[in-house]
Amino acid sequence: MSLRIKRGDKVVVLTGKDKGKTGKVLKVFPTEYRAIVEGINLVKKHMRRRREDEPYGIKEIPAPINISNLALFCPYCNRGVRFGVKVLEDKTKVRICKRCQKEI
Ligand SMILES: [Zn+2]
Repeated sequence: MSLRIKRGDKVVVLTGKDKGKTGKVLKVFPTEYRAIVEGINLVKKHMRRRREDEPYGIKEIPAPINISNLALFCPYCNRGVRFGVKVLEDKTKVRICKRCQKEI
């Protein structure tokens, strides 16, 4: 069992219309294996105006995307990478980039 992508991670989209884009993980749904990523998989949502002076129109919000379509972004490799888990002496687990072996 590896440590999965979690909130706040920077990820790269591997497939679909947003392929190659990077973004920050805003929310993870572990049971559905999906995540919401900032600026990725945007869907148009019609906003209803409750007051006259409220902004009105169409707002783009990110929809959940399957986690298997995402790769963790390694700042050292400057690309999406596969990662493994390393257990430190104090038993804490860290994620290691399988490409450059650095902690991410
Ligand atoms: Zn790396």
